[in-house]
Amino acid sequence: MTTTTARLSEIAPGVWVAQSRFYAQNSTVLLDGHGGAIVVDPAYYADELAAIPPDLAALGVRAVAGISTHMHYDHVLWHPDLGDVPRWSTPGTVRETVENRERVVADLVGALPDDLVDLAARLTPYDGELVEWSGPTLRIHVHDAHAPHHLALELPDLGVLLAGDMLSDVELPYPADDDTDLVTYRTGLESLGDVVRRSRVLVPGHGGVSENPVERWDADRRYLDDLEERGISDDPRIGHDDMAELHAANVRRGAAARNWS
Ligand SMILES: [Zn+2]
Repeated sequence: MTTTTARLSEIAPGVWVAQSRFYAQNSTVLLDGHGGAIVVDPAYYADELAAIPPDLAALGVRAVAGISTHMHYDHVLWHPDLGDVPRWSTPGTVRETVENRERVVADLVGALPDDLVDLAARLTPYDGELVEWSGPTLRIHVHDAHAPHHLALELPDLGVLLAGDMLSDVELPYPADDDTDLVTYRTGLESLGDVVRRSRVLVPGHGGVSENPVERWDADRRYLDDLEERGISDDPRIGHDDMAELHAANVRRGAAARNWS
């Protein structure tokens, strides 16, 4: 039997990914094998979000929960047809989306229909290392590299890592605003080293799925080393769309790191 979905394709057993027109953003659906699914970072445009529920129906499953990897506006979306289920994130991320809701959703206003803006960032704190669900072991790894309280999701039995906005082939390392010397970013990246080494398939927040996670991790470390040691890098991502401003900011962060040492 073949299953036809509009957007989702299976990248590992029970792990389905859809790529958005919005900065090649990945939405991931994890099947529990019992008719349920966790939808991670569904994105981005209204028609793309609306296509996910029928895709779940085609797979014979329904959403039992959502997970947002971090507080950025493109990672806290949902669609009404996915249902009123808990949408988990780290307690720190949820606190931020409550206390600074307007700022979190600001970039969505006018870009998406009002009902989707209203539904964005309605998250429930999840305080634990293992996700309680009826699917395969699902482990949460929290760090502060790209955003404070950012989580990565590991499916160790499948060798799959959902990295959120880390380890991308299209986006340079993108530190949080208050990370002025790349130290927080490097600490977060290093904290993922073991899980990267034991994973076989990587789904980044934006860009292509990789079957060589270590290659992505090494590229990001090399880029940080370049900026901290020399202030220049030949990382090919520098030439990608919209990366010039980020790279310039990262060069300044690298210079700050050199001045400290
Ligand atoms: Zn982000």
